[in-house]
Amino acid sequence: MANVADTKLYDILGVPPGASDNELKKAYRKLAKEYHPDKNPNAGDKFKEISFAYEVLSNPEKRELYDRYGEQGLREGSGGSGGMDDIFSHIFGGGLFNFMGGQSRSRNGRRRGEDMMHPLKVSLEDLYNGKTTKLQLSKNVLCSACNGQGGKSGAVQKCSACRGRGVRIMIRQLAPGMVQQMQSVCSDCNGEGEVINEKDRCKKCEGKKVIKEVKILEVHVDKGMKHGQRITFSGEADQAPGVEPGDIVLLLQEKENEVFQRDGNDLHMTHKIGLVEALCGFQFTFKHLDGRQIVVKYPPGKVIEPGCVRVVRGEGMPQYRNPFEKGDLYIKFDVQFPENNWISPEKLSELEDLLPARPEFPNVIGDTEEVDLQEFDTTRGSGGGQRREAYNDSSDEESSHHGPGVQCAHQ
Ligand SMILES: [Zn+2]
Ligand SMILES: [Zn+2]
Repeated sequence: MANVADTKLYDILGVPPGASDNELKKAYRKLAKEYHPDKNPNAGDKFKEISFAYEVLSNPEKRELYDRYGEQGLREGSGGSGGMDDIFSHIFGGGLFNFMGGQSRSRNGRRRGEDMMHPLKVSLEDLYNGKTTKLQLSKNVLCSACNGQGGKSGAVQKCSACRGRGVRIMIRQLAPGMVQQMQSVCSDCNGEGEVINEKDRCKKCEGKKVIKEVKILEVHVDKGMKHGQRITFSGEADQAPGVEPGDIVLLLQEKENEVFQRDGNDLHMTHKIGLVEALCGFQFTFKHLDGRQIVVKYPPGKVIEPGCVRVVRGEGMPQYRNPFEKGDLYIKFDVQFPENNWISPEKLSELEDLLPARPEFPNVIGDTEEVDLQEFDTTRGSGGGQRREAYNDSSDEESSHHGPGVQCAHQ
């Protein structure tokens, strides 16, 4: 990768490369306002550039990649996320995916073979800890006995049947004055355009010029790599005479984890606690992706509301190429309430004395109607008809204007 500092994205925002997050934000806001398509319909490209530059530089991970490795770092780090191609080629020239291995592109004038794409399933543990695995694959390599010639030098002759073209044109007379022209693959040379006498044929490859070989690739899955990221082995795809071999590209596929969900460098998990823990503090242990037993403590006196989220800083995924920096771990708390009638009525009133006081019953003027509060299964959805039956004065969407309560007041 080029080591020349690439400052294009900073230039777009008009800030120096060392700019602080605040300076970036200010510059971005000012430019975004100025070039917003609403105000400035002819500056659409400029606006896209500004947005793209800010998107990269405001993301610490992307900015780091860009600062260290420039444009190339972004291209590789992006994992080929969709929609970026346009803006990349606009700013840097050349499409994102040309570089990622389009077929039959030549590096030095030679025809280029196809890239071979393989998915590689990796666990979240592997992406956290990094892993080296060996991948065995079978590929074509040029025959070493004949140097990919298929036979002794001079033994290879142009096929006389097709004159080296690999195809034969056959003209068939259907009726006097009426001919049909047909093109077919030459059967003498199987479309190769060349023939080798049986006796001169290479014994090792039987004249095929290539042989199958089992190749073992050592794959380094680095800490912090992401789903969709590519690991490229340049020029390791099938070999063929006169063709520059393509790349073997491994596409990382992150397997689901039972405990953690990943979001960039952050991890998310859900933990169940009881009501007593939610109110009186708790301690629990979980096993992290590297096998460490993590103890989480929450002191008595601090309350966890159902569904709330707390964060443990620095216990997320390691950053790619900067693994000592880690994201955060978000823990969502699922508070388990006790069953109905879990306690005797006497104890319940004792408990009530301990809990924060309930609000006073409001004074209601006029007629009241008491309704039943019933169990409701949220998975069954709420049909409109059913809701009518159980309606009360304030829950209906019509109540703001024409609800029954308002009508009553007018009568
Ligand atoms: Zn051979
Ligand atoms: Zn032929």
